[in-house]
Amino acid sequence: MFDKLFSLFSHDIGIDLGTANTLVWVKDKGIVIREPSVVAMHKKTKKVIAIGSEAKKMVGKTPASIVTVSPLKGGVIVDFDATLAMISHYIHVIHEVGNVLPVAWVRPRVVIGIPSSVTEVERRAVWEAALSAGARESFLIEEPMAAAIGENVSVFSPTGVMIVDVGGGTTEIAIISLGGIVVSKSLRIAGAQMDSAIIHYVRLRHGLIMGERTAEDVKIKIGSAYQKSSKLKVENGKLKNNSQLSTPYPSEPWRSGINSQINKMAVVRGRDIETGLPKSLRLTEVEVREALAPVLSQIIEAIADVLQEAPPELTNDILTHGILLTGGGSMLTGLDQLIIERTRIPVVLSEDPLTSVVRGTGKVLQNDKLLQRVKVVGGLK
Ligand code: ADP
Ligand code: MG
Repeated sequence: MFDKLFSLFSHDIGIDLGTANTLVWVKDKGIVIREPSVVAMHKKTKKVIAIGSEAKKMVGKTPASIVTVSPLKGGVIVDFDATLAMISHYIHVIHEVGNVLPVAWVRPRVVIGIPSSVTEVERRAVWEAALSAGARESFLIEEPMAAAIGENVSVFSPTGVMIVDVGGGTTEIAIISLGGIVVSKSLRIAGAQMDSAIIHYVRLRHGLIMGERTAEDVKIKIGSAYQKSSKLKVENGKLKNNSQLSTPYPSEPWRSGINSQINKMAVVRGRDIETGLPKSLRLTEVEVREALAPVLSQIIEAIADVLQEAPPELTNDILTHGILLTGGGSMLTGLDQLIIERTRIPVVLSEDPLTSVVRGTGKVLQNDKLLQRVKVVGGLK
């Protein structure tokens, strides 16, 4: 009775607990929070200093007494306290802005999207974290399922659908049919490994040590997976043999973004491996593509593995309807094209890949029947 009364004031909350970004959806308001999944804490006391973008600003710049952690690195919870701090922080923030009543009274229903590789023990902890942060009811939903629902896939139809969610730390690959995940794989290779590949490449090729943030910038600005036209190929081939640096290009052509015939470049700053001094160099689109190629091949191999494990009837559905590609990593230019070329399966790109999962949590909160059918039950009460 009291629960019913309080639910009048409560906000239902959907949380996408991503490895790179945490998003929060609130009933009647939509997506209200989009923050990096980073927590800054005191090393010894574990006292939380900052959460989200405030904490991300500190990455790589902290004094010895402070650490910044990505609590869900690689799709597993590497830092429990930080994960729990994040969940309760956001639940409290939502209620502080929207309510006169304290969260302990209001008690929202909370749905959390979690990577499918999270263990039963960890699931239970996340589930309990929401309850202890004041949730009246807490539900977990696997990210690929949430993403599919967010993308308006009819998950209960007997037609197989393949979802590939390229996130920050994990690529979630799943085939969904009749409301359940039939085969899935959570690969620990995604956006962050693309960044590392760029760092590695630049160190080997140019003797330059660059930071993670710089590598991510390069990836977003000039990264690509696929070489478009054959004309460009010739041009790029020439460029590769000549010295890229001596070629007269307009400064920062990637910023203008007008001429796709131009081999885009980015200026990166870092530290010279030999002298230890600051150094900058120009990195070309072709080089970045070369750096990313092995990582992308691994993602595509994993897609092929999941397809192989699927029952043939479902494989047929996927061949006809295509793969649904989402997650921030799917925004890498030409990734869809590369997957099409390698797998010979059509690819449908999400229009808003960073929000598929959180939109899915919102949809299940508005449809109780759906929620009851797709919620994770293993290991929970
Ligand atoms: P998660 O669900 O694991 O939190 P997201 O779906 O939020 O991850 O995606 C984050 C990843 O997407 C990061 O690695 C980020 O670098 C990458 N990303 C964001 N925008 C782009 C872009 N335009 N091109 C390539 N990668 C991108
Ligand atoms: Mg995600």
